[in-house]
Amino acid sequence: MRIRVGATTDIGQVREGNEDSYLILDPLYAVADGIGGHRGGEVASNLALQTIQRLFSAHEGDLTEQVERANRAVFERSQNDREVAGMGTTLTAALVQGPRVRLAHVGDSRAYLFRDGRLELLTEDHTLVHQMVVEGEISESDAETHPHRNVLLRALGVDGTVQVDDGIVEMQDGDRLLLCTDGVTSMIRDDQIKAVLQETKDPQEAVDRLVRAANRAGGIDNITAVILDFTEDSSRDGTREAPMQRPAKRRPVAPPPPSPQPRRRGGRTARRIGIGAGIALALVVLGIVGVRLYLDTQWFVGVSNGRVAIFRGVPAEVAGLDLNSVVVETPIRADEAQELAFYRDRLLEGITADDRDAAQAIVEQIRRDVTRARQDRR
Ligand code: MN
Repeated sequence: MRIRVGATTDIGQVREGNEDSYLILDPLYAVADGIGGHRGGEVASNLALQTIQRLFSAHEGDLTEQVERANRAVFERSQNDREVAGMGTTLTAALVQGPRVRLAHVGDSRAYLFRDGRLELLTEDHTLVHQMVVEGEISESDAETHPHRNVLLRALGVDGTVQVDDGIVEMQDGDRLLLCTDGVTSMIRDDQIKAVLQETKDPQEAVDRLVRAANRAGGIDNITAVILDFTEDSSRDGTREAPMQRPAKRRPVAPPPPSPQPRRRGGRTARRIGIGAGIALALVVLGIVGVRLYLDTQWFVGVSNGRVAIFRGVPAEVAGLDLNSVVVETPIRADEAQELAFYRDRLLEGITADDRDAAQAIVEQIRRDVTRARQDRR
C-alpha cells in the first residue's frame, strides 16, 4: 500500500493555547488532545506522543504496550510536577503494517474509515455521554447537545494503569483513514465530515477544509486532523511525506473568556480537571477512572428535599448512580421558585455554574426573584 498523508492542528477560535498534538512517524500516526489547566494539557499530549515515538523507534513493545507506557509517563510526570498535576490526554494511534492498520485508542479523539463513500466510526468515545447512551439514559441526539458531553471517563495519565482499546482494520485500495480530536467532531457532524472527505481528493487539502469548517462552526476547541490515503501500489516511489513533528504553536490570540452564565453549554471549563474527593465512591464502584477528578470541579443549582440546593458534580446519572452530591440545602422552597416559569424546568435539570461562588450567585438571584414574586402577589 502506498500512503499519502495530510495533517494539521489549529488553536481554534476560543482557546488560549493549543493542547492538541499529532505525530507523523511513518508508519506510525497519532493524535492526542491534552486536558488540564495551565500548561498541563499541552505537556500531556506532547509527552504521550514523544513516549510512543521513542518506544516505537526503539522497537520496544507493541502499539498497545507503547500506549500503556505513555500513560505511565504522563501519570508519573503529573505526580511529580505540581505545575502539571492532574493533567491527562486522549490518544488515538494508527500503525500501518502492510495492508493492515493497527489502532490503539483512549479518550474521545476518533478514528474513522472512509470507504466507498461511507464513513465508519472505528473508535468508541470514552465519555460520560456515550456511556449514558449505552446505558439508555439519554438518546444519541441528547448526547450531541449535552452540557457535559466533554467529560471523559478514560484518559492517559489520570491513573497508573489504563485500559487501551485496540483493533485491526484491513485496508483496501482507495481507503481513507481519518484521525481527529473532538475539536472536529464536536463542531461538525459526520455528514459534513463525509462530504469533505468525498469532495477533497488531496489529503492535506481535506484536513485544512475540516479545520476551516470546524472554525466556521465556532471553533470552541483546538482542532486536529490527520488523513491517511491508501492506494494499491507495490512500487515505492518515495512520495510519502517525510516524518515531521507538529508545527510550532501559534501565540495566544484568543478573546477573553465569556462571563459565566447559568446554563452555559460546553466551553472552556468543560475539560478542567481538579483534585478532590466528594462523590468518588459511586464512580469507583463503577470502575470509572478520572471522571471523579472532573466532577469535583463542577457545580450546579437544583432541588434537594423540596429546597433549592447547591450541588457539586453534574446533573446526571449513569447506571442509576447520581454523579453529584448536595453541598448546601437553602431555606428557599423549590415549589415556590418553580412557580416562576423561568425556573420551573431549569431547576429540575440543574442550573450549571463554573464554581461555588457562581452557584451561590444563582441562589441569591432565585431568592430575589421569589421574594419579588411574593410581594407582587400582595
Ligand atoms: Mn479537544
